[in-house]
Amino acid sequence: EVPLLEVHNLKKYYPIKKGIIPRTVGHVKAVDGLNFSLYPGETLSLVGESGCGKSTTGRAIVKLDPPTEGKVILEGMDLSEISGLNLRKTRTKMQMIFQDPYSSLNPRKRIGDLLSEPLLAHKLTDKEEVDRKVNEMLEIVGLTKLHRSRYPHEFSGGQRQRIGIARALMLNPKLIICDEPVSALDVSIQAQVLNLLKDLQKEFQLTYLFIAHGLGAVKYISDRIAVMYLGKIVELGKTEDIFKKPKHPYTQGLLSTYPIPNPHLRNRERILVEGDVPSPANPPKGCSFHTRCPIAQDICRVQPPELTGLHHQTACHFPLL
Ligand code: SF4
Ligand code: MG
Repeated sequence: EVPLLEVHNLKKYYPIKKGIIPRTVGHVKAVDGLNFSLYPGETLSLVGESGCGKSTTGRAIVKLDPPTEGKVILEGMDLSEISGLNLRKTRTKMQMIFQDPYSSLNPRKRIGDLLSEPLLAHKLTDKEEVDRKVNEMLEIVGLTKLHRSRYPHEFSGGQRQRIGIARALMLNPKLIICDEPVSALDVSIQAQVLNLLKDLQKEFQLTYLFIAHGLGAVKYISDRIAVMYLGKIVELGKTEDIFKKPKHPYTQGLLSTYPIPNPHLRNRERILVEGDVPSPANPPKGCSFHTRCPIAQDICRVQPPELTGLHHQTACHFPLL
């Protein structure tokens, strides 16, 4: 199968500046060499504690915040090698949905304008056609054309996320990067929005990169899961394998914080991950997880483990089997 999106050695570094005449004294390695592919119609979730580089990864892929290094290939096209109209067209195939739809929707604009803007920006200017598309999209996300003349503040959080989703869909994208799209919503509303995303995925053959801070949130929606720690992927596999046979101590730690009956975990000592994530400005040498890993050995403090494996990958010198 041909991937929709390929990410090769993606890096995003931010310079750390010091002094009266600022000079660069180091780098925050927010994203530090990611490799993964996304296949048409699937949902891959990026999971990890805040500050591990998930959102930065999403923003680097769509070039909201261009990568420092690495390649992003969409439908076989290397985004760093195309420009102008070609790049603009390709970028419409990737859209983002944000955690807080309120801050991503201009409060002074009516819903109808917010939804027609992407179309107008891409030179679809036939007014009737634009109106028809806006009305249709409002219905698709569970609102109505009567909502067109209202402003974002007149809607509930869940409705606003529906508007954010509608806006993301206006240009028929193939890939949607969902950056914690339900974490700011009431628990009772979360399932509704997740169901909507699932329905839309089927209807429009969408591919999702779904960003979340906990594994519980993504169990229901993901085909595969990539667990991130300090800018790197430490484990990547099918959702079922990640939950039933986690190989990385960090993944196992994340799982043991959920009240999910897991016979695989019951048979072994539970791994509890304590303390905070170290600063990405000064990550631990060797395996960056060694400061919190209960099974770390000498080699872990010196030698960074590579991500290895075919369908279930992990970066650990002593993976749990
Ligand atoms: Fe723990 Fe070592 Fe594996 Fe890192 S490489 S997760 S420190 S056992
Ligand atoms: Mg984030």
